Amino acid sequence: EIVDFNLFLNRIIDRFEMTHKDEVEFVRDIPDTAVFTEIAVDKMGQVLDNVISNAIKYSSKENKKVEFHVKQNRLYNRLTVRIKDNGLGIPASKVDRIFERFYRVDKGRARKMGGTGLGLAISKEIVEAHDGRIWANSVENHGTTIFINLPCETLEEADWDE
Ligand code: ATP
Ligand code: MG
Repeated sequence: EIVDFNLFLNRIIDRFEMTHKDEVEFVRDIPDTAVFTEIAVDKMGQVLDNVISNAIKYSSKENKKVEFHVKQNRLYNRLTVRIKDNGLGIPASKVDRIFERFYRVDKGRARKMGGTGLGLAISKEIVEAHDGRIWANSVENHGTTIFINLPCETLEEADWDE
């Protein structure tokens, strides 16, 4: 399915905002113009649901903030979405392991939080099946940023109507 990724992402954030607006500040730096991507909407929705849920779940207790940034690289027909939280962060030595199945940074904490530790492993599979990449940057006690890079089209919206 070909969708405007910016619209798709905005709708997902809207949904989180409705259920978490008293608890989390959502900041959007998303272009007004359309960026078309060919995605399995359900699957990519599952990826974003997990990444955003993680950003909220592993955030610091006060002043939870999740920032979204979308940037299109027209030269290479790729887009990068960045989802940044100001939460607990992940030690540098462990950050690359969070995409492994069942891997959880803090087992004690994870048990209390619930979940299975599969979210990011599944997300990685889905993103790679879209010819995309997913990776993380994190600073312990400061926060985590998840990056997702995907193919996109440079065609203008009008071109799709022909
Ligand atoms: P599930 O997604 O299956 O419900 P989960 O959230 O524990 O469980 P993943 O989404 O795969 O599993 O994340 C794996 C681990 O990576 C988490 O348990 C957590 O330790 C760490 N992690 C993921 N996202 C963040 C984040 N935004 N900040 C801090 N740690 C994170
Ligand atoms: Mg998760």
